[in-house]
Order: sequence, then C-alpha cells, then structure tokens
Amino acid sequence: MQKRRLGRTELIVPILGFGGIPIGERCTAEEAERTLRAALEEGIVFYDTARAYKESEARIGKAFKKVREKVILATKSRERTQSAILREIDASLSDLATDYIDLYQLHAVDSEDDLEAVLSEDGALQGLKRARQRGKIRFIGVTGHNPEILIKACKTGEFDTVQVPVNILDRFIFRPEEALLPTARSMDMGVIAMKPLAGGTIKELDLALRYTLSQDIDVAIPGMGSIKEVLDNVGVARRFEPLDEASFDRLLKEAKALGTEVCRQCGYCQPCPQGIEIREVFRLEGMFDRYEQKEPARVGFRNLIDSGSNPAECAECGECEQRCPYHLPIRRKLKKAVEKFLRA
Ligand code: SF4
Ligand code: SF4
Repeated sequence: MQKRRLGRTELIVPILGFGGIPIGERCTAEEAERTLRAALEEGIVFYDTARAYKESEARIGKAFKKVREKVILATKSRERTQSAILREIDASLSDLATDYIDLYQLHAVDSEDDLEAVLSEDGALQGLKRARQRGKIRFIGVTGHNPEILIKACKTGEFDTVQVPVNILDRFIFRPEEALLPTARSMDMGVIAMKPLAGGTIKELDLALRYTLSQDIDVAIPGMGSIKEVLDNVGVARRFEPLDEASFDRLLKEAKALGTEVCRQCGYCQPCPQGIEIREVFRLEGMFDRYEQKEPARVGFRNLIDSGSNPAECAECGECEQRCPYHLPIRRKLKKAVEKFLRA
C-alpha cells in the first residue's frame, strides 16, 4: 500500500487508515476484535477513535495491547477546558491500554465559540500541550466540519494535523479542497480525511475511496466494522490509481443523484431525548432506497421500534438539528422515513 508523510509529525502512514466509529457502536466485542486484527494483518497501521465512540477506545486497546509499537493511535475529545481534557487524556490512556497516544485531537471544533474556548488561556489546547510535555501524547491535532474555522485553527500554527470530511459529496458542501487543504499544507500539517465513503452513501466504493485518495491528503479513514469492509477497502487502497476523468464523471453523477440531504452517519445528532436512534433510521432508509436490501431494512426498522426507538415519537424539539454538522432537516426526514416504512 502506498505510504505518505503525515505532515510535520514525520510519521509515515499507509494511505488507508481505520475509522473507529463502527467497532465502538455497531459491533459486538468479538466482531470488533476480529476486525481490528484483520486490519493490522492487512497492513493498516493508523487507527482513529474518540472518547465519544462508545466502546471504540477500549476495544482498540484490548486488540493492540501486545503490539502497541506496530500501530499509530489517534483519538480525540470534545472537552474544551484544560482540566477537563487532561482528565480525558488519562481516561484515553487507560482505555487504549497504553502509556502514550500518538495523536490527540480536539474533536469537532466547528464554531467561533469552540475555537475561542479551546485556544483560551485555560482552554483544551493548553491541556494538550501539558500532556505533550509529560510524554502522554506525541502530537496535537484538530478536527471539524467547518473549513473556515479549521483554516483559522491551522493558521495558529499550534496543530500538527487537521481532520476533515473529504469525499465527493462534501466537495460541494464543505469544499475542503479549495482553501483548507492548501492552508494546512502551507503550515506543513498532516491531513486526515474522514468520511471518504460519505457515510456509506456512495455505492461505488472503489470510486469514492479513489476520489479521496486522489486529493492532497495523507490518510483516509473509512469506518470499518467487519472483515469484509477491511478487505474491500484494503483492496481499493492497494490498487490505488488517481481517478481518471470518465470515472470522476460517473462518481459525480451518482453524487448529484443523492441530493443534498443525505445522512453521513456521523452520529453527532445523538443522543435524542426520546431515545430515537436517528443515525440508524437513516442507515436503514439508505439500505431500503439504494442498496436493494428492502427486506433486511424493513426487519431492522421493526426491531428498532421493538427496542423502544420509534421515530414516530419525535417530539420535534430540534436538538438533533442543531448538532448535525450538515444542518439536515432531521425532523422532516424522520417523518418521511416513517411513512416509507409503514407503507412498505
Ligand atoms: S427533534 Fe425529534 S429526533 Fe430530534 S432530538 Fe428532538 S425528539 Fe429527537
Ligand atoms: S443526521 Fe446529521 S448528525 Fe445525524 S448522523 Fe446524519 S449527518 Fe450525522
């Protein structure tokens, strides 16, 4: 697999990394362990997780405890103050079963308020620097979905890496390719591409991943929750060639047909006070609409309702929409999904 230099960290990373949401949230412990072991065997070295990804850190820690030196561990926290992030780092060290973390990132720095808070005198950045001095972490990164804010973060010169969605759908929404990636490069920062498969919405996995790998990024981190997903992604990364014009046009056609209201499966809208598993509803809807898996989607929807997560019980509070980085009309989309599954 091709390798790239992760900016000024000087870490050399294979172009395919591992996104840690699925192993923390939709796998059993055994599935997660099998998936992580397969990923390492197939040459994936860079593992990205977060305090917010439920069991993800602990499962990565368990799988790689005995082979710590073979992997690069990246995690992140949404805490914004020095004292709170220092506690989070200690919790990450414990869950990841290690005495150092290669890259610790400020998670979802998406607004001016977020940026101001983390950069303040008693903000999270100061906590990360103290942890770095003590040898608990090696490098400091920032993640988010708002290129304007991330550009400001990059220009502070404080961060070694930036993590942002880079995929064919977000090319027309966040447009990271236009100014953010060149700014990060001018600061010699590493670039980590999240959501290369746009949350699984693009059917042509090969083209979607090749699109991301063709941009000026160092490592793409699709979420993986099974050995099959590992093997599929590794296959594409090993054969990687930049997208030619005809393939790009085909991918663009598929992206345009998806429209602008597609859920990217990031989960930032959760938790819902009514207990609605919003991301799962939209995942099932995607299976129903795009993947010719109508019956499994119907069964999944019924199971969801039986487990107490009924989208018809949305109280319209709007909290989820405030948290969605894509500003999706979640309430309207949930109603549509309910009607669709009730009719089906
Ligand atoms: S608007 Fe509905 S789905 Fe969203 S958080 Fe409120 S109750 Fe939950
Ligand atoms: S609705 Fe928005 S926040 Fe929730 S999973 Fe989808 S894209 Fe993410």
